[in-house]
Amino acid sequence: MSSEQLWQMVLSELELAMPESSFQTWFNNTSVKSIENGLVIINVPNIFTKEWLEKKYSKEILTILKNLDYNIREVEYIIDYSIKPSAYKNSSKKSRSSSIKNIGSVGDEDLKLPGLNIDAKTGLNSRYAFDNFVVGSFNELAHAAVSASVQNLGVSYNPLFIYGDVGLGKTHLIQAAGNEIKSLYPNLSILYVQAEKFTNDVVHALQHHKMDDFKERYRSVDVFIVDDLQFIAGKEKTQEELFHTFNSLYEKNKQIILSSDRPPRAIPELEDRLRSRFEGGMIADIGSPDLETRIAILKEKLIQKKASLDDEILNIVAKNFENNIRELEGALIRVLGLIKMTNTLPSVEIVSKWLLSTSSQSNKNISSKNIIEVVSGFYDIDEKLILSKNRRQEIVKARQISMYLLREILRLSLPSIGQKLGNKDHSTVIHAIGKIENGLKKDENLIEEIKKIKQKLYR
Ligand code: ADP
Ligand code: MG
Repeated sequence: MSSEQLWQMVLSELELAMPESSFQTWFNNTSVKSIENGLVIINVPNIFTKEWLEKKYSKEILTILKNLDYNIREVEYIIDYSIKPSAYKNSSKKSRSSSIKNIGSVGDEDLKLPGLNIDAKTGLNSRYAFDNFVVGSFNELAHAAVSASVQNLGVSYNPLFIYGDVGLGKTHLIQAAGNEIKSLYPNLSILYVQAEKFTNDVVHALQHHKMDDFKERYRSVDVFIVDDLQFIAGKEKTQEELFHTFNSLYEKNKQIILSSDRPPRAIPELEDRLRSRFEGGMIADIGSPDLETRIAILKEKLIQKKASLDDEILNIVAKNFENNIRELEGALIRVLGLIKMTNTLPSVEIVSKWLLSTSSQSNKNISSKNIIEVVSGFYDIDEKLILSKNRRQEIVKARQISMYLLREILRLSLPSIGQKLGNKDHSTVIHAIGKIENGLKKDENLIEEIKKIKQKLYR
């Protein structure tokens, strides 16, 4: 096993053991530098992550590593500045001079590795409940429909089909339904399954001639919950089995709850007979939460984490993350981490900047071309002008933002950034990046614009 593979295995174990948002926050930008004489050296993007991993996760990481490789005895974390320009450099000093009000308390809840709370028989995770699910106008309909079907299993809405974009609470809601049913009717057999798992089970059953077992398992349940149905698009055999499972359960008035990132009619390559089954019950969508609801969700998350936070700061976090509750939660964790590490109440500017600079979205599909395109589109400036030597103010600004983002997101070297923007000198690039970094400390408009550009990029 190469050291990179070894670290990948550690990461996949950690990922299973903690909320996704924490995982993204702490492990997204880590890699293994070397393994020598039992000493593993891990690259981390900044001092903050280094201290955090050392303090909070070190023991678990070492345990996992030792399980994988008997010879390992120690782990060290070093900061690799090429991973990310160190945007965090001076913020702790500055925040100390900002007014220290009630910093609030930062619980340790998030830091523990809770292990898998998933019940093997039902597939339900006890962390999803109605109690900790915030209802607002964006998800009211879906919530009401789910509650009604829980109260009148197999009667009110069957099937119940919930759809909405990623990170908006579909899994939480339908898992909560399962947990609620389990506590109301302990004798019922409930099965929650990801559509991907269902697909794998179909394939496995076919390969190993175990179709009878498969049917027995899926057709004997009282409540059948399938998540992320869009996954079965184009999968004929899976669709066929799902169709028969569906019919068999439906005829017996068993409750069926389904979720997908889009409505049935928008799932491509879906057999008509399945589509019409899905459309035969109740369909409810989940939209995007408004600002007040996002703040309410943050407050709920704080309760779970046994932490508290200044309203002004909650407001900033809520304002920065509009369309994805998972990211909203990740941002909250990062801010709590910042406070814990500096032991001060950071200013609004620092929090904004921190959120921008630690945003952990995946960069997989973003190229320098994308960045320049999106920036030019955002400011409505011809791409050619950005690459030219034109000194008009708005063009210079778009050019500087492009440079800043090439550095921040893609971590390109200064000369290579210069080259991609029409063969500019690397000192021009340094100046541009410095200018934008400075602007981000004080210029509300700039912060907002860059936030929007990033949203477009990551969409
Ligand atoms: P989806 O399945 O739609 O991609 P999830 O159900 O996984 O989204 O939700 C993402 C994260 O946001 C989870 O941690 C979940 O607990 C949280 N979340 C989503 N909606 C709510 C809500 N209404 N109240 C509280 N937390 C929520
Ligand atoms: Mg989900």
